[in-house]
Amino acid sequence: MSEPQFVRARSVDHAIDTLKAAGGDGLIVAGGVVVSSLFNQRLASPAVLVDISRIKGLRYIKRTPNGLSIGALATHDDIHRSADVKAVAPLLTEIAEDVSCPRLRNRGTLGGSICTIGGQGDPATGLIALGATMQIKGPGGERTAHIEDFYKDAFEVDLAPDEIVERIDVPAPQTGARFAFCKLGPRNAMDFTQITVSVVMAPTGSGIRIGMNGVANAPNRPRATEALIATMNAGSINWTAVGKTLNGEISPQGDLVYSEDFKRHLALIGLRRAVERALARSKEAGGRA
Ligand SMILES: Cc1cc2nc3c(=O)[nH]c(=O)nc-3n(C[C@H](O)[C@H](O)[C@H](O)COP(=O)(O)OP(=O)(O)OC[C@H]3O[C@@H](n4cnc5c(N)ncnc54)[C@H](O)[C@@H]3O)c2cc1C
Repeated sequence: MSEPQFVRARSVDHAIDTLKAAGGDGLIVAGGVVVSSLFNQRLASPAVLVDISRIKGLRYIKRTPNGLSIGALATHDDIHRSADVKAVAPLLTEIAEDVSCPRLRNRGTLGGSICTIGGQGDPATGLIALGATMQIKGPGGERTAHIEDFYKDAFEVDLAPDEIVERIDVPAPQTGARFAFCKLGPRNAMDFTQITVSVVMAPTGSGIRIGMNGVANAPNRPRATEALIATMNAGSINWTAVGKTLNGEISPQGDLVYSEDFKRHLALIGLRRAVERALARSKEAGGRA
């Protein structure tokens, strides 16, 4: 395996030009948490490694009239500490706090998390539940993609080899929206999560958006399950019926840790815990989240 050429990008356009010149054989590195482990395991051997970590203007968190704008280089720790994230989308604060360990949270970026192909990024579930969009730039200009449409299949995302995710826009949930996430796996720190579920529920009733990870080849939004829960009374959800619908919408793969059947079982447990936490939180707050 030959050494890749290393290019430190000065700007987004410089990075895109370098990726384009690499003709599909370039790889972006941001925090490098995942890329370095791909190299260590000899799973990646690009001709060109494009380091975007020092591009000015990609590491920020801003409030916007519609919610939040988060630069692709914002780290999990930046998100966890941000007062703006806590005020507008505290679901993302809680998810960031639980990503692996402090060392990884200090290096790992949000852009790197959502672009980790075949990975188990927890933040994607919250972003799906919140209805986030991504701003992507390539040689042909900028485009916007809904994060729930970004993941196509295992190792397949809606990103050309010469495109870069510049930022993630998160709409503010409705006032009083209830939210929670639930992460299930053998251990919390220094391990990829097995199953992650995030939910955002309407202030009243059972209207819900769900983001899930670990239950299919890619992060997904189980829309039929959302639609079914929305027809039920929030206080008396029929979990047997929900489980049947959810089962039809997920396709987990068994692995060395959990079998397919056990993942199906955990998917419903994760969803139920997330919903119950969201509802309990609204009660604690006297009916307001
Ligand atoms: C031991 C371990 C434990 C982990 N535990 C967790 C966990 O508990 N929860 C969790 O959610 N994640 C976990 N992860 C995953 C990791 O935290 C995230 O994926 C991290 O945020 C990656 O960010 P990075 O900047 O280091 O990405 P990098 O390693 O730099 O890049 C990752 C991928 O994204 C691409 N990429 C990076 N930035 C961009 C961009 N702006 N545009 C386009 N493509 C881009 C790269 O080309 C590469 O393919 C774990 C990882 C490891 C190794």
